[in-house]
Amino acid sequence: MTLATEQISDNQIVHREVVKAGDPWMHVVKAGQKFRIVDLEGNQAVDTLFYNANDTEERYSATDTIKGQGNIYLTTGSVLRSNLNNPMLTITEDTCGRHDTLGGACSAESNTVRYSIDKRHMHSCRDSFLTALSKWDYGMSKRDLSSNINFFMNVPVSPEGHLDFDDGISAPGRYVEMTAHMDTLVLVSNCPQLNNPCNGYNPTPVEMVIWEE
Ligand SMILES: [Zn+2]
Repeated sequence: MTLATEQISDNQIVHREVVKAGDPWMHVVKAGQKFRIVDLEGNQAVDTLFYNANDTEERYSATDTIKGQGNIYLTTGSVLRSNLNNPMLTITEDTCGRHDTLGGACSAESNTVRYSIDKRHMHSCRDSFLTALSKWDYGMSKRDLSSNINFFMNVPVSPEGHLDFDDGISAPGRYVEMTAHMDTLVLVSNCPQLNNPCNGYNPTPVEMVIWEE
């Protein structure tokens, strides 16, 4: 568990927390701070949304981010842009190599369409997002859930234009790290999905580390 954080000294760490498999998480990363997500056991999907902590009407925009970099995948150098086209965070380190912008969050509806009607009531990221929003009072609701990033999730686009939910490419201890350009509220669902090869049908914990150089 110390593998991915060994170059960060204890006095640089602002916040460090393990998020259990299937749990939601919310925290503010201040401008200039670094935010690292560590895939502790490998092949976990971490569904993530970002909001301007001082004005949550400004939030991560998949379309502005994809348009800005001319690439649908995220990795080192990717600038995560807001709906006002402002840079929110830049990915400054990435030992996984690819993160998804298109697959969205799993929900009761997607459980039904992708798997079967009897999977409808299984725990989903959309439920986790809503649980987090009701628990931490930022005055947000389901209207504030937009297209999210899936960190560590492998969703290649086929030559025919289809999305393939493929086997994960992450491994234990791999991490992605971002530097925040504004005070950013981070909303995470550590995906509870049990029907998807992206996480090996086995949700696992991740570690969040917020630190300052
Ligand atoms: Zn999910």
